[in-house]
Amino acid sequence: MRFQDIPGLESTKSQLIEAVKGNHVAHAQLFVGTEGSANLAMALAFSTYLNCEAPGETDACGACPSCVKNSKYIHPDVNFVFPSAATPKFKREDATSEKFLVEWRSFLTQTPYGNVSDWSNHFGWENKLLMIPRQESRNIIRALSLKSFEGKYKVMIIWQPELMNVNAANGILKILEEPPQDTIFLLVANDSNRLLTTILSRAQQLRIPSFSDENVRNVLIEKSSLSEEEISRIAYRANGNLRLALSEIEGSTNDTNDYFKDWMRQCFTYNFESLVKLADDFQKRGKEFQINVLSVASNYMRETMLKGVDAENISRLPDFEKGFIEKFAGVFIPEKIARISPSFDEAQYHVERNANPKILFLDLSLSIAQIARAKSN
Ligand SMILES: [Zn+2]
Repeated sequence: MRFQDIPGLESTKSQLIEAVKGNHVAHAQLFVGTEGSANLAMALAFSTYLNCEAPGETDACGACPSCVKNSKYIHPDVNFVFPSAATPKFKREDATSEKFLVEWRSFLTQTPYGNVSDWSNHFGWENKLLMIPRQESRNIIRALSLKSFEGKYKVMIIWQPELMNVNAANGILKILEEPPQDTIFLLVANDSNRLLTTILSRAQQLRIPSFSDENVRNVLIEKSSLSEEEISRIAYRANGNLRLALSEIEGSTNDTNDYFKDWMRQCFTYNFESLVKLADDFQKRGKEFQINVLSVASNYMRETMLKGVDAENISRLPDFEKGFIEKFAGVFIPEKIARISPSFDEAQYHVERNANPKILFLDLSLSIAQIARAKSN
């Protein structure tokens, strides 16, 4: 991965490049970006740049031995730690990142904007709960105690530090604070609120902005043969989440928007029996679909809020969505949106961590129904 492989985000890229040129690269950095952002891709591109033998003004050269190895994620000085689960071959505590590097590399190549569920599916863990086990902190310390093999920097990329076992997190505090010379930690997270404050305080935070609609459109134009109108629709719905946009062109999320609208209609009418049926259906659809529905829900919440506070001029709403949002905003005034909106993000978080989707969906449906019907004052 190089900077040029990531659409847009020029100021983030140049900020990173300037740090290298000025020789003031922070030894522990936290790349925070929402799902479907470039947080992981940016860490990969940055680590390629750090060890490039002939770095250019705006990117790594792409041709030196170091760049070639980084393009295959096999550079001996770039280490990866990521969540995993037990396998028939390895018990939970022994299931550490180094055992799964082959699958990890193919995941990075195919799905650099993927989330934990994508990684879990890619490996074939399916519904197991992924985490970074305690043993991993010892592996990190061991890997970093070796001198760098060939690069200028030793890089340790920790993906999803939110999923670190507490003992694993505590185990790296000392080395995170005082790493060996020319060692760079890149922690790649979605939500810094879910990290231990002791980790947070030791890393310099870099917020990776979401992609713009234009960034997303450009990727879709390159990767699909869809019409311009269809591409604009998908980009709009994705709201900067490139993972969501890409899964939509693969056909896996085509009906999530309609599904969400239908769900909301059933919440308004408050038909308990049909909500139970829908919850059953939601359960059967599988995790990726569930996450996508909850993820588009967040977009609709945002649009409705903007409509409700008369900020339509900054809304990204295309014509084909106006009817639904107008009706929805009629029921869900801003005060009500503020109440239900966080529930969708919470639900997504729990689905990703294998909460029972049926119970969660039903629970969420009932609170939406109640809020919809509550008298506003
Ligand atoms: Zn190079």
